[in-house]
Amino acid sequence: MISFNVPPYIGKEQDYIMEAIRAHKICGDGAFTKKCNKWIEDKTGVSKALLTTACSTALDMSAMLTEVGSGDEVILPSFTFVSTANSFVLRGAKLVFVDIRPDTQNIDEKLIEDAITDRTKVIVPVHYAGVGCEMDTIMDIAKRHGLLVVEDAAQGVMSTYKGRALGSIGDYGCYSFHETKNYSMGEGGALLIKDEDKVDRAEVIREKGTDRSKFLKGVVDKYTWVDMGSSFLPSEMNAAYLLAQLEEADMINDNRKASWNAYYEMLAPLAEEGRIELPVIPEECEHNAHMFYIKVKDIEERSALASFLKENGILAVFHYVPLHSSPAGKKFGSFHGEDRYTTNTFERLLRLPMYYGLKPEEVEYVADKVKEFYK
Ligand SMILES: *Cc1c(COP(=O)(O)O)cnc(C)c1O
Repeated sequence: MISFNVPPYIGKEQDYIMEAIRAHKICGDGAFTKKCNKWIEDKTGVSKALLTTACSTALDMSAMLTEVGSGDEVILPSFTFVSTANSFVLRGAKLVFVDIRPDTQNIDEKLIEDAITDRTKVIVPVHYAGVGCEMDTIMDIAKRHGLLVVEDAAQGVMSTYKGRALGSIGDYGCYSFHETKNYSMGEGGALLIKDEDKVDRAEVIREKGTDRSKFLKGVVDKYTWVDMGSSFLPSEMNAAYLLAQLEEADMINDNRKASWNAYYEMLAPLAEEGRIELPVIPEECEHNAHMFYIKVKDIEERSALASFLKENGILAVFHYVPLHSSPAGKKFGSFHGEDRYTTNTFERLLRLPMYYGLKPEEVEYVADKVKEFYK
């Protein structure tokens, strides 16, 4: 049986977790958390990175930091995970869904401007499969209309757009370290903050609305409740697990890319015959092999292929039920313009097994079975 995902594990995780335990420092913001934050800051160039309990909660913090409120509108793709939307719904905002591009499955930057009204406050690009959205265009639109940009870079750790790290281009960026992502701590994420002057409030929100982080730095002599917030910091044991992987990020990335490239090469003939479509990586983007997906003719063919692969011991999965057609999506938002590619992509896309440590012969077996299906 070839699993769809196996959480990354490189071998140093246990030692690091034991180190945290022996240091009697297992709550948040100890040495391991700080090292993870620093790793992200060095890698991306943001003013501050803060580990969080999930990408979902990093998005929650971003939504608070943008100060979006009741009646404000947020522009996002419908083809995304629920967390992208939930964080803004929790602040009372209305969701305005925009269609995606058929090549990258990312929000179509050319459709954003038409969806802007006087209530629009935030644009949330989602970097699907770790391939960057057209960020120069999106940042230009945001600047001209006075909007903030929150990047859902859950899948984009180690990816770049024009040489800049995904998550570091908008006002805020959110990473995921869930076990299904390239680097993991079980459950976890990070908030990336571009501007120095936003850091203090982010630290307050993350520490239950208190100025505890200033207190720990010795800037104030006692700490108190100063703003809204919650407990968004992960435990040191989770951070220890993550640090082991971040230290080997290049090795993990190279391993994933080798699998991705092998899939691509082996399936290219099927794409040339017009039987399937393969992912498109724009020239401006360096990706992280988060996902290998194909697009087939229609939903019937997708179901038949997934069943055929399952009969052959291969787990292939699909997503996302378009948010605008889900019960909550209908309640909290609406689709702007025509749905040309969102539902169509949901019906045609199939993700093949992809994880650190997937063996070359397994990739070959999967690719062979896909080819056999089309014989
Ligand atoms: C995984 C994912 C999330 C949520 O990440 P968690 O760390 O599980 O909260 C959000 N958005 C996208 C696009 C994701 O892929």
